[in-house]
Amino acid sequence: MPTRSATGAASALDERLSAVLGGRTATAFERAFGYRTVGELLDHAPRRYAERGALTALDELAIGESVTIVAEVVAVQERSMRARRGSILEAKIGDGAGRFLTLTFFNQGWRARDLVPGVRGIFAGKVGDYRGARQLAHPDYELFDDDGHADAGTTSGDAALTAEAMRRAQQPVPIYPATSSLASWQIARAIGVVLDTLPELEDPIDPTVRARLDLVPYRRALELLHRPERIADVARARAALRYREALVLQTALVRRRLELRETAATPRVTRPGGLLERFDARLPFTLTPDQEAVGDAIGADLAAEWPMHRLVQGEVGSGKTLVAIRAMLTVAESGGQSALIAPTEVLAAQHLRSLARFLGPDLQAELRPVIVTGSQGSKERQRALLAAASGGSRIVVGTHALLGDRVDFADLGLVVVDEQHRFGVEQREALRTKGRVPPHVLVLTATPIPRTVAMTVFGDLDVSTIEAVPAGRPGVETFTVPLREHPGWEARIWSRTREELDAGRQAFVVCPAIDDATAEDDESVLPLADVDAQRSARSRAEAADGGRPDSASAAAGPATVVGTLERIRAMPAFAGRRVEALHGRLSADDKDRVMSAFARGEIDVIVATTVIEVGVDVPNASVMVVLDADRFGVSQLHQLRGRIGRGEHAGVCLLVTQAEAESPSRERVDAVAASNDGFELARIDLELRREGDVLGERQSGGRSSLVFLRVVRDAEVIVDARQEAERLLGADPTLDAHPALAEAIARRLAADDEAFLGKS
Ligand code: ADP
Ligand code: MG
Repeated sequence: MPTRSATGAASALDERLSAVLGGRTATAFERAFGYRTVGELLDHAPRRYAERGALTALDELAIGESVTIVAEVVAVQERSMRARRGSILEAKIGDGAGRFLTLTFFNQGWRARDLVPGVRGIFAGKVGDYRGARQLAHPDYELFDDDGHADAGTTSGDAALTAEAMRRAQQPVPIYPATSSLASWQIARAIGVVLDTLPELEDPIDPTVRARLDLVPYRRALELLHRPERIADVARARAALRYREALVLQTALVRRRLELRETAATPRVTRPGGLLERFDARLPFTLTPDQEAVGDAIGADLAAEWPMHRLVQGEVGSGKTLVAIRAMLTVAESGGQSALIAPTEVLAAQHLRSLARFLGPDLQAELRPVIVTGSQGSKERQRALLAAASGGSRIVVGTHALLGDRVDFADLGLVVVDEQHRFGVEQREALRTKGRVPPHVLVLTATPIPRTVAMTVFGDLDVSTIEAVPAGRPGVETFTVPLREHPGWEARIWSRTREELDAGRQAFVVCPAIDDATAEDDESVLPLADVDAQRSARSRAEAADGGRPDSASAAAGPATVVGTLERIRAMPAFAGRRVEALHGRLSADDKDRVMSAFARGEIDVIVATTVIEVGVDVPNASVMVVLDADRFGVSQLHQLRGRIGRGEHAGVCLLVTQAEAESPSRERVDAVAASNDGFELARIDLELRREGDVLGERQSGGRSSLVFLRVVRDAEVIVDARQEAERLLGADPTLDAHPALAEAIARRLAADDEAFLGKS
């Protein structure tokens, strides 16, 4: 259903492409990019712009690369083939600096009529290699109708024609993301047709805001983006489109927050002598000031008549889990239930254990926490499900399995999602719909999120931060161990580990892969943001044929849990020590057994994958050795390191790498060794990553991605748009006076299948 504008006419942006471009072209666009409407096509922004006058340097083209270049035809020659019937047309194109490329066409001699020496154009194709010379076989091309110089009209003495030629010569040529079936200029032409018929559009941005920020109107911005007269036009277009995108998104998010306030929820308040007070009295430590402050904010949220929707971000080990437990007790006081969702079974099981520890026998008996996981036995699961459905259990811990249809709650008051970045928005939503009355939602994340990212990705949540870790933590010292430069340091890694064991401590050894065939990704433990690092680790692992399973630090492949376990067990330094493996391919029971034994101090060394990355809390563990540390992302290494130095003992983290000094992978490792500040590292991480990874897979994929806006670079724009959105909705909550904006939001939500912002 096309959205209706205030005047009742369907917006021109919602018009079908088939109506404007004809069925065949429209189908081509739908096949290539999934576009169906005019608005979608107009959002297809040029990747870059070529200048007619400036030829592309031809010496930088790599064989196998798909290129779009501006060049000049230098010579054309047709010859017949020796072996077969037919002819080859060869055109030599140059960059004006003595570098050439050959275009070859089979049986297309007629092209010689267009490809005359001196003519310039854009050429697109894949760079091939024919007998040592680079060529494009059957390239797509479009020739400029003038040669880029303004002398075409001078002989006729027609001044107007000369001016026109000069104008054209200056026009940047947009180079669009193209496919093999739709070349850049075909896209340009289609967009041109659309723009020619596009009426004046209402602008979602208020004229006063446009004036304040000196932004061109929307319709004009589209024109300047796709048909710039000069390169400066592009910057003006982008500035306006960026702001528009930010405003639409922020208004949608702020509106959603306001809508939540209109939703009824059950207020949950504590009373003197109640569960929370009894719990606090039992705590072996005092809350940090940040924990107090965040606890107060949550308390106020829970007491409100609308659902809480809060994100708590905090440094690893800052005590977020404790904050969540206190929130669950608050809800339990009025008989309500809480669901605590962890990203892995290891973590869910650990939560259940720490609940038992913190609650003590009395509270434990009253609250009866249970666990629901995908892999537990059916009897145990039935019992847990019953406890949840009857209300007998007031805290239900679990993994994604809690999202299943068969899990019912008697009175679900609070949903806590631990380590948010492993949870999609959709999953968060699935849980929210589980209560009869929408439950309060608390999201915890240990990956510090820069403010504008939080505003963009979690803009519908209130955000609190726990900055300080509990006082008296001795901290972790981190060292890079560069084996390429210092192969001899390998022995020192293990003797240092042994020293810690001798002092009564325990150790983690982390490997990027389980065995030669399997990278760790089978429990979806990776934060979306780190999927890329993992992926490239895997493809490198695949490329390395014949990796040596018995050599943890072999250059051939990444260190594996299986190989490293064997190797460590065989080392004299670890004789008589208990060394066990932990990874996603073990059964839930086995994982739990290993983790529990480790927590009890019965295992000395755990050789693991990233399954231990988040949340695992064993205060006696003091050493972490990360093998092939360059295969992990910055934030991931920081998370891993957060597993040690959690108790009274200082931690030592050794980041072992074969990466060359000053290589990008080595830079990542060194950055983590140099800083303990999660926020600082998150910033570095963002700089080293593509934007899409920041938003997670869902948001970066397909049409729900941001087109013009970059969450890190455009922080100021996002902040301004946020304020504008708040001001606007404050005065006009239903956006009645802002139909163009309301329409743009509706369009965005529809395109995102309502997944980007969640359904409500
Ligand atoms: P996070 O979930 O933020 O990584 P946790 O909640 O797991 O951190 O807490 C880390 C460790 O610190 C746990 O062992 C916890 O018992 C302990 N802890 C939590 N709060 C405090 C505090 N205020 N003082 C001392 N230790 C604390
Ligand atoms: Mg935690």
